[in-house]
Amino acid sequence: MTVSEHTSYDVVIIGGGVIGSSVAYFLTRDSMLSVAVVECDPSYEKSATPRSAGGVRSQFSTRPNVMMSLFGAEFVRAAPDLLAVDGDRPAIGFRENGYLLLASDAGVAQLHENHVLQTDCGAAVSILDRTDLAHRFPWLNLTDLACGAFGEQNEGWLDPYSLLQGFKRKARAQGAKYITDTVVGLTRTDGRIDTVLLQSGQTLTCGAVVNASGVNGRQTAAMAGITDLPVFGKKRQIFAFNCKEPIAKMPLTVDPSGVYCRPENEMFICGLAPPEDDDPDNASFDVDHGQFENDIWPVLATRIPQFEAIKVVNAWAGHYDVNLFDQNAILGPHPEITNFHFANGFSGHGLQQSPAVGRALSEMIITGRYTSLDLSDFGYDRIARNRPIFEKNVI
Ligand SMILES: Cc1cc2nc3c(=O)[nH]c(=O)nc-3n(C[C@H](O)[C@H](O)[C@H](O)COP(=O)(O)OP(=O)(O)OC[C@H]3O[C@@H](n4cnc5c(N)ncnc54)[C@H](O)[C@@H]3O)c2cc1C
Repeated sequence: MTVSEHTSYDVVIIGGGVIGSSVAYFLTRDSMLSVAVVECDPSYEKSATPRSAGGVRSQFSTRPNVMMSLFGAEFVRAAPDLLAVDGDRPAIGFRENGYLLLASDAGVAQLHENHVLQTDCGAAVSILDRTDLAHRFPWLNLTDLACGAFGEQNEGWLDPYSLLQGFKRKARAQGAKYITDTVVGLTRTDGRIDTVLLQSGQTLTCGAVVNASGVNGRQTAAMAGITDLPVFGKKRQIFAFNCKEPIAKMPLTVDPSGVYCRPENEMFICGLAPPEDDDPDNASFDVDHGQFENDIWPVLATRIPQFEAIKVVNAWAGHYDVNLFDQNAILGPHPEITNFHFANGFSGHGLQQSPAVGRALSEMIITGRYTSLDLSDFGYDRIARNRPIFEKNVI
């Protein structure tokens, strides 16, 4: 096939969710590179992004995660201006109500250890004792609680679909081309990916490729001959419910059991990660209502007595792209196939990391290194070198 102007790009991004679209936004903002984003389903029906809880928090246990989320918060606060097109400012709906992580006696040491790190990174997180908790969140049942950690700034939630569409619209306005198609193959010459094959039969030649294909990240890597990307789809459910009694200024509240809950306009949403030993790879979107009845509601009703009388009004399932190696993102170039870039394995925190990931990969592709925030610890080679970066705060 003759390579025409329209089928040759400096960068081809596989997957146009919030990660791929953020990379496209930063690349087209900061360079003159030609950028194509190949997205198989522009309705995003089964993509992780619109199924997300939209949470942004600085309460992580590892420095790069805290730093990425702090930049994420700064970015989404300014997003209506940064992502405006022809004066039309997208409504991202960032509600800075904070995260409240609760601890029983068993969790106190970890909360304090995380707090030292978070504060050192510049996060505004306060440790609240039982008196503080009673004063600030009088609707909590404190019986078995020792303390809590509350994000005073830079934490809350936003509308994930609006952020995705905001990145996408701005990236297109800056010159990115979105192609509706499925990537089915990659060809390699001398350790470089040189073409991207599409289901339609079209071939794109490329200078660099970004794997931003969410739960399909492992399959996309395999197309490049990389067969060991430890990323697998794991089902997570969200239940939305009504409660007659309002709860003032409720942050996203995480019970020591792992059950989380937050307001969503007039409703509330909640969820719970299954135990690690009962978390199979799962492509189904069926909702198991038993999880709410048996594992979530009893915890909610005990922790927040107003939640004894609630009514589930909606529920959905989505999939985390879980990195089973260490539950953290895998970012940047493959050590040998150096024009193949990973943006995979976000393990449930990719939405809030999308601005930092987009900026970082854009810097790496344009300049060959990270210039704003060094994310080289999250490189693919840590897997071969068996150097995991364990994140203890996965929600
Ligand atoms: C229930 C739930 C709650 C969550 N809550 C939070 C939260 O509170 N905070 C947070 O930060 N994160 C959260 N997450 C995680 C977050 O949603 C993801 O990390 C993030 O959306 C990942 O974005 P992505 O662009 O990588 O993936 P996706 O949004 O899945 O996008 C990947 C895209 O790639 C496309 N694609 C795949 N393969 C191909 C191919 N071969 N060719 C062309 N296109 C392809 C897909 O169609 C898809 O649109 C949650 C996730 C779920 C499921």
